[in-house]
Amino acid sequence: MEDSLEFNKLITEFHIEPEVIKYCYQCSKCSDNCPVTAVTSDQYTDTGYNPRGNILMTLLGRKDSLLEGDDLKIWGCTVCVTCDEVCPQKIELTEVFTFLKNQSIALGKVQILSMAKQKLFTKMVKLYRHNLQLREEEKN
Ligand code: SF4
Ligand code: SF4
Repeated sequence: MEDSLEFNKLITEFHIEPEVIKYCYQCSKCSDNCPVTAVTSDQYTDTGYNPRGNILMTLLGRKDSLLEGDDLKIWGCTVCVTCDEVCPQKIELTEVFTFLKNQSIALGKVQILSMAKQKLFTKMVKLYRHNLQLREEEKN
């Protein structure tokens, strides 16, 4: 419990405005607009990258769940900042996710494979966004 509170405090203080992160009301706009979620999520198995879930776990101080998760858990984020732009509560999600990645490295939990996968995701996301843009242009 103490560990959870300490972890929560560290992340909160890392955020540019410490109180703001607590205003998350789990609307899921971040996940709904995240291109990595779009290319990795599976509604039938509830798997894939989930920024909304990561913010919830952060607020609950669930350090182990976040840092002991699979490669996608925190390393799926490509820092495209879409979630920062759409969050109605002005939460800087990418700051939180950067903190989590730094913690993972500091505790020696990151794997080389994670970084390789992240490069792959970055390419996938670029392709996804490019395709979205093309579809939008076709509509207009
Ligand atoms: S968009 Fe913002 S308020 Fe909504 S779930 Fe994500 S972090 Fe929380
Ligand atoms: S910054 Fe990360 S979590 Fe946010 S939308 Fe982009 S890939 Fe998803």
